[in-house]
Amino acid sequence: MPESLVLKGGRVVEQAGERVADVVVSEGRIVAVGPDLSADRVLDAGGCVVAPGLVDLHAHLRQPGQEEAETIETGSRCAALGGFTAVVAMPNTTPAIDSAAVVREVQELARAALCAVHPAGAITVGRAGERLAPLAEMAELGVRLFTDDGTGVQDDLLMRRAMEYAVGLPHDVVLAQHCENAELAAGGHMHEGEWSSRLGMAGQPSEAEEAMVARDIALARLTGCRVHMQHMSTAGSVALVAAARASGLAISAEATPHHLLLTHAACASFDPVFKVNPPLRTEEDVAAVRRGVADGALDVIATDHAPHTPDAKDEPFDQAPPGMLGLEFALGVALSVLDLPLGEVLARMSWRPAAVAGLAGTQGGPVEPGRPANLCVIDPEASWTVEAGATASRSRNIPYVGRTLKGRVRHTVSAGEPVVVDGVAQR
Ligand SMILES: [Zn+2]
Repeated sequence: MPESLVLKGGRVVEQAGERVADVVVSEGRIVAVGPDLSADRVLDAGGCVVAPGLVDLHAHLRQPGQEEAETIETGSRCAALGGFTAVVAMPNTTPAIDSAAVVREVQELARAALCAVHPAGAITVGRAGERLAPLAEMAELGVRLFTDDGTGVQDDLLMRRAMEYAVGLPHDVVLAQHCENAELAAGGHMHEGEWSSRLGMAGQPSEAEEAMVARDIALARLTGCRVHMQHMSTAGSVALVAAARASGLAISAEATPHHLLLTHAACASFDPVFKVNPPLRTEEDVAAVRRGVADGALDVIATDHAPHTPDAKDEPFDQAPPGMLGLEFALGVALSVLDLPLGEVLARMSWRPAAVAGLAGTQGGPVEPGRPANLCVIDPEASWTVEAGATASRSRNIPYVGRTLKGRVRHTVSAGEPVVVDGVAQR
């Protein structure tokens, strides 16, 4: 008999509310929820919250093709340590995830992962923005989120066609967009503003992001396509998304932990760890992104976990690739900067992203018998200081070194397996 497991003495927090209960897991599923339960193995959840596992809509796992920066195995270990039981892997790999063959390759590699890994498909072939990728054949394999992330789809008519095509698919899919007008952003290495002027660094104006947000809202209205706006970073973007959602459009949008915490002033160090795309913006933008998350206009928090090898990040600021690690720090940053009840934070990091990605059947759902056992146990009061190199990633580009974060993941149970116990990955 496989051993059963009980998460003992925690407060269960889920979409429907919260209660104190033990949760028993066996053979990959939740089998009992209630007081005074026992099992072969006990994981202490005293003083902790037991919740549906977190779901990340935006992780770069770098496989295939850039395994020196990350692999699906190491990235999924970061995810599990961060409380995630599912991640959507971005398709800007080498080759890009733009065909059934590469989707299958990633799904095959994901079998050994420490959490569920769902490949996103590219919208255009090779993410080149020139012709539509075979969305139908990827959707047939279970892909539900498509994006050219790393760049936005520039051609207005092609994006319209992609949306029309997506609406006609037999599967409910979402088109996610890295909103960046390439011409307006060209040559910029940080936010265009006070700090780029002071540092003499070419910048990207907020309008480079907002122009594409506005276009895609218009195209969503025209086509009826469900659209997800990735990593919203400016006050203007937040306002556009809020208005579009208020008008009833099927638009979802994400904030990243770093856009909730850091400003462009961090670039004054010229440390390439703070180079990210979209760039860190102003204090007003950070405040607007926080408000957007609080009032629900930005209904998802996603990491944009973007590993780069120390060699690559060791270049001068204007030559280093953009991106920073995020999976292990996302919950701690969110709980540290947001003045929201834990259940609201979990909505944006678990059940809402699960719904956006079409994963509600397995992730983010109610903690009740019969459901797949994808759970995390969080100590909301624990505080910890981020240390350099303290990551399971193959890369080291952590922007939070030396910061004290509130809230820590204690255990993670993925498909019934305790993959993280007392903060330690089990494999
Ligand atoms: Zn992006």
